[in-house]
Amino acid sequence: MAGLNPNTAPAIVILGPGSLATARRIQQRYPQALVHGLRGRVDAVDVHYPAFGDALRALYAQGTPIIALCAAGIVIRSLAGLLDEKGAEPPVLAVAEDGSAVVPLLGGLAGVNVMARELGEALGVAAAITTSGELRFGTCLLNPPEGYALADIEQGKRFVSDLLAGEAVRIEGDAPWLADAQLPEDGAARRTIHVGCEARPASRDELLIHARAVVVAMDGEQGEVVARVRQALGSAGIAEAALACLLAPEQAMAEPALHEAAQALGVALRYAPQAEHLVQMLAQAVPGARVSEHAGVAIAVASAPVDIAQIGRRRGRLAVIGLGPGAAELMVPAVKAELARAEDVLGYETYVRMAGPFRDDQVLHCTDNREEMLRARHAFELAAQGRSVVVVSSGDPGVFAMAAAVLEALHASSDPAWHRVDLQILPGVSASLATAAQAGAPLGHDFCVMSLSDNLKPWSIIEKRLDLAAQADLVLAFYNPISKARPWQLGNALDIVRRHREGQTPVVLGRDIGRPGQTLRVVTLAELLPEMVDMRTMVLVGSSTTCTFDKACGGQWVYTPRWYPVAGEGR
Ligand code: SAH
Repeated sequence: MAGLNPNTAPAIVILGPGSLATARRIQQRYPQALVHGLRGRVDAVDVHYPAFGDALRALYAQGTPIIALCAAGIVIRSLAGLLDEKGAEPPVLAVAEDGSAVVPLLGGLAGVNVMARELGEALGVAAAITTSGELRFGTCLLNPPEGYALADIEQGKRFVSDLLAGEAVRIEGDAPWLADAQLPEDGAARRTIHVGCEARPASRDELLIHARAVVVAMDGEQGEVVARVRQALGSAGIAEAALACLLAPEQAMAEPALHEAAQALGVALRYAPQAEHLVQMLAQAVPGARVSEHAGVAIAVASAPVDIAQIGRRRGRLAVIGLGPGAAELMVPAVKAELARAEDVLGYETYVRMAGPFRDDQVLHCTDNREEMLRARHAFELAAQGRSVVVVSSGDPGVFAMAAAVLEALHASSDPAWHRVDLQILPGVSASLATAAQAGAPLGHDFCVMSLSDNLKPWSIIEKRLDLAAQADLVLAFYNPISKARPWQLGNALDIVRRHREGQTPVVLGRDIGRPGQTLRVVTLAELLPEMVDMRTMVLVGSSTTCTFDKACGGQWVYTPRWYPVAGEGR
């Protein structure tokens, strides 16, 4: 159905811990589905939402199939305001908390009854199907299974009414899913269900269903991909709805025109090793299909819908993501979505654990924190095979973390397969920003971010930068301030800073910010001792203008004003 992605995993929405067991049983049937629970009421869920109605409406508006474990009435009332709006409607089902009833509510054309039956099977109960065509014929004729597309929904509704009124029907073409249906079949019937690939308008007495049995191959070099695909299909007399997949040579993997075209046509894009002719490449990728060529575009028509998983291979994806400081609500939604689609997850074990929970089908590759280049190369090897790979960093991946290591590995590589990977860097809330936000606005004016670790740079450089940054009166944010292997460096650094800053300068110490047991302290530069700091601490040293005042609820606000004293009038 237009606008609805049939691959979207359902959301299992629960209100309280009483439905968690049923939710997990449902999750076994739909392993991609996440369990959404009300914040504060249920802990052990995959996603927390703050308000039930809002969560349901947002999922509905996104086209996400909804399995709500609560009274049908609550679901109906929550979504009522949205039902008039045109557009795709995802399947919406209410399931009794104890799993004893499954009620399909909305999304008849998006397969809600199919889902209801699947759920009924998984829970061992009968689904409450109320659709008359479906009850009579045992299948929803307007919702053919994956691999088939109905040509015209309005025409289809008339057709089903005719059958319900007693008309007989005959099937033309191959419709295996109708084998078990109870249709009023008659070889001489005027009404036909026609399954095929050809382009033609449906006739008055016909239910026209296109089999997605067509694969088109092209190289994308000549541009205008969509227009050329449409033209080729047109001259071959094939319906656009029958197109299942675009196939291109592996060399063209990064070609943006192909990606745009596949999206515009609403089909998958796959790649095969380049052959001398597109026809040859296509014939190898879709064995047994009838292959022809139309002005530089090769078309394969198989005898049944093609299984895209069997055709060529996909472009691999490598996303370097930032988790934020730790708390799930500080993780950006793009990162959550990336984690959900990941097949492989690489990173330092602590961060990989923080990024979970993961499904059984997701492969975790936990490594030591220091093996960054090895990890980056391993990630490219996996992605170059066509997998969807995530490399995890805490905070932001570009701040003393994996993004630069991944780019360095790519820069050093001459493997074209690595360069063709779909590489994405997804930002996160860095520890300095998360700490600053809790303290107030210490980074409200110009500031300087430094790592005090001399593992990857000489200490002399750090000393020089500290000296100049302190002299320039920048607020200082120190990452990696101290560790067992680097015990004396912080003391040295503070000596340098104290040459340029007064003892009263405010210092913010944020430890495990956004994580369980987080602490925030405000001290003065004079009071600051290296013993107050460990490797899980962020150190923010104020500038000459940074100030503090008491909070009504205890503790202090720290901020650096946005203005700066004019030279000569400073303090
Ligand atoms: N990419 C990360 C930083 C990695 S360097 C980011 O953008 O946040 C690791 C250092 O970051 C730690 O030594 C500590 O100084 C700081 N840090 C990371 N997470 C932190 C947290 N939750 N609270 C306080 N400091 C943190």
